[in-house]
Amino acid sequence: MTTATDQPAGTERWHVNRNHRHITRHPEPEQWTDKWAVEAFTEAEKLHGTAIHEAAHTVLFCAAGIPIYSVTVRTMSEAVGTIPSGETNRGPFRATLQDVLAALCAGERAEDRWLRETGMWTTGRAWAAERSALNDRTEADGFIYQAAGVFLTCRSNGTWHDLATLHSHTDQVIAKHWASITDLADALVRERHLDAQQIASIARIDNPAAAS
Ligand SMILES: [Zn+2]
Repeated sequence: MTTATDQPAGTERWHVNRNHRHITRHPEPEQWTDKWAVEAFTEAEKLHGTAIHEAAHTVLFCAAGIPIYSVTVRTMSEAVGTIPSGETNRGPFRATLQDVLAALCAGERAEDRWLRETGMWTTGRAWAAERSALNDRTEADGFIYQAAGVFLTCRSNGTWHDLATLHSHTDQVIAKHWASITDLADALVRERHLDAQQIASIARIDNPAAAS
């Protein structure tokens, strides 16, 4: 016998946030006004998390054959107003849709992995990493709609355009490149800005934007 609350085997329930606009894998904290307060990171910890996020985008874009001109990270005190804490400056490209989607999902999934590996993972921090990736998810949604006329979903329903499916594929790609991602993140924490050539040599990866 099944009831309306039963879920198909192998699926997990995602959470509609209180604004009724966003759906996250991890539940929204009971009360919050500021994502950074939920995370309660030091400046150094937050900078490293941002560096992991941007390094993962950078490495997976390059692996997909997409040129990256530069990557930049900023501290919380520098990222005020509309200034983003991280930026990956991408060139024009033609690439396989699945590779582009993995590169877009890579920021939030790498942050989640880094939180676990460093013993800093909490539900609130995992949720904040998701909410910080809203622009990435919106961009993925746009590419999916453009290519196939369907929308990105968050239902763990096993379809190729569901975020749970995309995340498990992304996790596998990240695992292959983890050493490059962490090395690039370490360099970003030190330098804050890396150009195309530096990205290629530090991450030991072909970057179409780097002079050969
Ligand atoms: Zn991102």
